[in-house]
Amino acid sequence: LPEIFLQAMPILKKIQQAGFEAYFVGGCVRDLLLGKKPHDVDIATSAYPAEIKQIFERTIDTGIKHGTVTVLQQKQAYEVTTFRTESGYQDFRRPDHVTFVRSLSYDLQRRDLTINALAMDLNGQVIDLFDGVRDLQKGIIRAVGVPHERFHEDALRMMRTVRFASQLSFVIEQQTLKAIAENAALLKHIAVERIHEEWQKLLLGSYPQNGLRPLVVTELYRYCPGFNGQVAVLKKMISLPRLKFNSVAGGWCLFGYLAQFTTGEMTELLRAWKSSNDLIKSVIVAMQATKLLENSSLGEWQMYSLGWKAIQIACENVTLLGKKNPMIEMQQKYQKLPINNIKELAINGGTLITELNLTPGPQVGQLLADLEKAVVIGHLSNVKEDLLQQARIIIKK
Ligand code: ATP
Ligand code: MG
Repeated sequence: LPEIFLQAMPILKKIQQAGFEAYFVGGCVRDLLLGKKPHDVDIATSAYPAEIKQIFERTIDTGIKHGTVTVLQQKQAYEVTTFRTESGYQDFRRPDHVTFVRSLSYDLQRRDLTINALAMDLNGQVIDLFDGVRDLQKGIIRAVGVPHERFHEDALRMMRTVRFASQLSFVIEQQTLKAIAENAALLKHIAVERIHEEWQKLLLGSYPQNGLRPLVVTELYRYCPGFNGQVAVLKKMISLPRLKFNSVAGGWCLFGYLAQFTTGEMTELLRAWKSSNDLIKSVIVAMQATKLLENSSLGEWQMYSLGWKAIQIACENVTLLGKKNPMIEMQQKYQKLPINNIKELAINGGTLITELNLTPGPQVGQLLADLEKAVVIGHLSNVKEDLLQQARIIIKK
């Protein structure tokens, strides 16, 4: 067993010694059986939250209403959640009632997909009530129970389904796929932030096209912010020989590039997805770099001002679009730039002011910018004396 499971063993043991059941559940068991490293382990138990708090010295009430207590042990934090059933779902997203139960089987029943409805006990014995192991082996994503009901209860599960298709390159089972098509419009009830989280995982998956395909086929994309009119872009992405993104910005950049979005349009789309300003900035510069690279007009000054991250994304994206990968060539070109940053300029505003007797103000900034550009494009060497001399010439003009 991977270290992360071994470390958590004492927690399960302690719960058992207190007379309750405890299992590893959900994504961590799935990942273990896939031979992937889980990023965290979730523990499910028959003990109620108050009982867990009695068993362990240090706990945090993370989501006590939903049965989750965080147990702190040897600098690690473990989420321990009481077996529960859910009912209600009048708003297509969250259950109206959460009921704690003593039986694992109810807890597994409420989970979204068979591959996520697995539990494992201390001996490594897997509890698999819905043939999740078979589906894992066959590469199938299948809803637990009646798919239509499960997506109707919680519409986010549809986005989860397509993102797992991208991450695992699994096929979505027919009834499950059909139920997504029938319930797609319910995605409207889900908070954009939660849709965005799944979309990012879809983009970063190993096989994004396997997630994009069902997103289009079921028309689920129509209920993703700003995607309704963009099916052609999604289809183009699906039709590329290969798709793989190293960053979320890379995925968005290709989307915006293919949609031929202006900076304004792209910003608007990303805002509709409630993206951070950092992401918006990265995507916009990467799109500019992609356009320039596609037109083979990415000069020194543009490389310098767009920055290496944007150029890297642009290289990745033009490669996905069928060009020979320009990364090595661009890297060499970028490294040859006299400076990569204004801080590397052999002079700064303060020096200009004292050496040339200038009054501080916007003209100093302009002067500095002119010198910066001259150095970057190779018209001027990055030597203090040369820069001062050039500055004197500019001032005289
Ligand atoms: P990841 O590897 O991305 O964390 P995960 O499957 O662990 O994937 P989580 O959001 O961490 O996803 O959820 C943990 C488990 O809780 C899932 O494996 C699944 O059993 C259950 N689960 C999560 N979200 C839902 C949902 N919307 N409906 C039903 N069950 C869910
Ligand atoms: Mg998880």
